Amino acid sequence: MKIDRTALERALQDGAGASADLFAQLRAPWPQGGVHRDTYGPGEQRAHELVRRHGEAMGLESSVDFAGNLVLTWPGRDRAAPVWITGSHLDSVPEGGNFDGAAGVVAGLAAVAALRQLAFEPAGDITVMAIRGEEASSWYQGDFHSHVGSRAALGLAQEAELLRARRISDGRSMHELMRAAGMQPEQVRPGHAAIDPARCKGFIELHIEQGPVLVNRMRPVGLVSAIRGSARARRARCLGEYAHSGAVPHELRKDALLAACEFCTRMDEAWTDARTAGKDLVFTVGRFFTDASVHSITKVPGEVSFSIDLRSQESSTLHEMCALAQDLAARISQRRSVQIDLGPFNVSEPAVMDAALLDSLRTGSAALSLDALVLPSGAGHDAQDFARAGIPTAMIFVRNDKGSHNPDEAMDMQDFLTATGLLAWQLTQ
Ligand SMILES: [Zn+2]
Repeated sequence: MKIDRTALERALQDGAGASADLFAQLRAPWPQGGVHRDTYGPGEQRAHELVRRHGEAMGLESSVDFAGNLVLTWPGRDRAAPVWITGSHLDSVPEGGNFDGAAGVVAGLAAVAALRQLAFEPAGDITVMAIRGEEASSWYQGDFHSHVGSRAALGLAQEAELLRARRISDGRSMHELMRAAGMQPEQVRPGHAAIDPARCKGFIELHIEQGPVLVNRMRPVGLVSAIRGSARARRARCLGEYAHSGAVPHELRKDALLAACEFCTRMDEAWTDARTAGKDLVFTVGRFFTDASVHSITKVPGEVSFSIDLRSQESSTLHEMCALAQDLAARISQRRSVQIDLGPFNVSEPAVMDAALLDSLRTGSAALSLDALVLPSGAGHDAQDFARAGIPTAMIFVRNDKGSHNPDEAMDMQDFLTATGLLAWQLTQ
């Protein structure tokens, strides 16, 4: 069945009130400031119950998997046919925005509602998933990985990390909190999955853009090419020698700060070179400091600590930049008689979105006369776990002003409907 563009737009407009209402209900406990939908805490739980009631009122089948992910299903003609999954997370960071994550869940429900209004009959099931724990690292500390809900559902998580993850506010383990909420954390283990990748047609996550690109380029909708991987050096140091700022001439100094500054400037130049060569790269030194217990206005700095965060959608670019950084550190160290020690780079590989699915979304974008911009995602998302599990995965970005992970996220409802239209179109393919 071919979907008529005008009819789809009308159906989405008809459902706009219901989506706006659901966003308002999600936001309601925090009329001022940011939302607090804490992972495996009362904030996230409330959002899941709200969305479950909304889905059940729509007549969707509802179930909850062992990790607490909510699964709302619109049955297809053939229950054994491959399944489309769409959705995102419902938790937030502390003092977070209402649209980060939730937009993808509300969009899934809105797309299903619009397609039902058009009397579309899906060949296979269409599932809207509200995922747990994408922001877990904002609420828990310890040796564990974030994206707990999606990784657990895909059989990519371990029970032991749930025991190591301790809630920052009271030290209780994530394992204990999941149990208390009626989930089965003991079932979280590698290879034990709630989702069978072989049964999935694909996973599509709609999400607000968390950077300024779509606003800047005046496009309502983006298509994600890849989720950037990262290479991080958390504890880089430059060691020189403390000396009297007046008494020691230039050639006899081992100035740690000027050496570290030169390193950063040279990395910045290499960043420009990489971009000129058409590579995808961002480079950030987020921490850079002398030791306040030792430093002084009258001392040549003997030690500087700093961090490096490199991100790219190309694995080769990440590895090239790590090698270049080590080479620069060695050369500057020798010339300036200091020791720049970057320590090890912790590398997380990029997740490339499915080429066929991206192509299909391009076709949909043209069919709906959207001028969607293809761009990488700088932030991590549940979609990367689905891609790693071997499920064809794509992401649709919605234009969003004023950044994300803050209460000021500004997504226009019209942009949301435009992006939801593309999601609905894809779910009919
Ligand atoms: Zn998010």
